[in-house]
Amino acid sequence: MKWSYHLATIKGTEVRIHATFALLLAFVAWQATSLGGGWRDALESIVLVCTMFFCVLLHEFGHVFAARRYGILTPDITLLPIGGIARLERMPRKPSEELFVALCGPLVNVVIAVLIAVGLGLPFSFDPNMQMSKVTEFWATLMQWNVLMVIFNMVPAFPMDGGRVLRALLAMIIGDYGKATRAAAVIGQGLAVVVVMAMVVFGVFQPMLMLIAFFVFFAAGQEAAVVTQQEQTSDLKVRDAMLTDFHALGSNAVLREAVDLLISGSQHDFPVLDEHGGMMGIVTRNRLIAALTEHGPGYPAQLIIERCETVLEPRMALSEAMTLLSASECPALAVMDPVHDRLVGLLTAENVGETLLVRAALRERMARMA
Ligand SMILES: [Zn+2]
Repeated sequence: MKWSYHLATIKGTEVRIHATFALLLAFVAWQATSLGGGWRDALESIVLVCTMFFCVLLHEFGHVFAARRYGILTPDITLLPIGGIARLERMPRKPSEELFVALCGPLVNVVIAVLIAVGLGLPFSFDPNMQMSKVTEFWATLMQWNVLMVIFNMVPAFPMDGGRVLRALLAMIIGDYGKATRAAAVIGQGLAVVVVMAMVVFGVFQPMLMLIAFFVFFAAGQEAAVVTQQEQTSDLKVRDAMLTDFHALGSNAVLREAVDLLISGSQHDFPVLDEHGGMMGIVTRNRLIAALTEHGPGYPAQLIIERCETVLEPRMALSEAMTLLSASECPALAVMDPVHDRLVGLLTAENVGETLLVRAALRERMARMA
C-alpha cells in the first residue's frame, strides 16, 4: 500500500502504518486542546488512541495466528485510521477453517475486555455515580472500545468478520461455498439497505453509519462476484483463455511499427521479443501514446517497455492467473512455454472476459437443451 511505513516485523508478518494515521493523532490532540485542555490532555488522548489501535493490531494477529495453523501466511498488516487490514495469502476454503480464522480476531477483543473488566473489579463494584479516576477512566474506555470492536466486527456482512462467519456457517449447512457466499452477500446487502431505510424513516442522519452501509453494500456484491467468477473458471486453464493470435515486436522495432499494429488491429499491448523469441517486456497503449508525443515515431520501442515480471504458464489454473493479472500493474501478462522458454500467448482481462461470456452462452444453450 502506498504511503505506508514499516513499523516492525513480528513472526514473519510485517506491520505497516499508513501516513494518514498521523492526521488522526493530530486531530485527536487538536480536539483535546480545543475542549479547553492543555498539552497533558492532548498527550493522554494520543496515548489512548495508540492503545486502542494496539488492540486493533492484536485483533489482526488473532486472525494471523489462526490462519498460520492451516499453513496460510500473512505477509503484512497495515494500520489505517479506519482499522487494520491483514493481507492473508488466501482465505481458507474449508468452512470450519474459515470460521476459526474469522472468529479468532474478535475473540482477542473479548479476552481483552474480560481481562480489563476483571482488573477493574466489574461488575461487583459497579456504581454509575462513582467518580472515576483518570486511570480507571482510561481502562473503562479501552474496555468499551474492545466491546464495540466485537459488536462491529461480528455484524454479519462482508467485509466484516461476521460476514465470513455467516458464510462459513451457511457453507456448512448448504454444502456449497459459492451459494453460501451469494446468500451471505445478499444478507449483508439487505442489512445495509435496512440501516439506510431506518435512517430515512426515523429522520436521523449518521454520516459515518451511512458511509459504512454503502461500503458494506458494495463490498458484499464484490465478494459474491469474485466467488462466482472463481466458480466459472475453476476448470479452465490459462491456455483456454489466452490470446494466441497476436503481434509481437522485434528488439529493434521503433514506435511507428507499434502504431501501425495498434491502428490496423484490435491489439492494445505488444510484447517485445529478443532475437531468441524470449520476452523483454510489453509496450502498452498508454506508454506508446505518451512516448509518441515525447520522442516521436522513430524512437526505439525497446526503451518504453513495461517489464512485466509476472509470467504465466499455459497449464496454470485460470483463476490463479487472473489473481496475478489483477495484482500486476501490466494490462497483459506473457504466457511462456516452460520447455522452450518461448512466448506462446498473452493473457488480458478482455480475453478472460470474452472466454467467460462464451462459456456462459454455451452453458445457457446446454441448459435450454436439457
Ligand atoms: Zn477481524
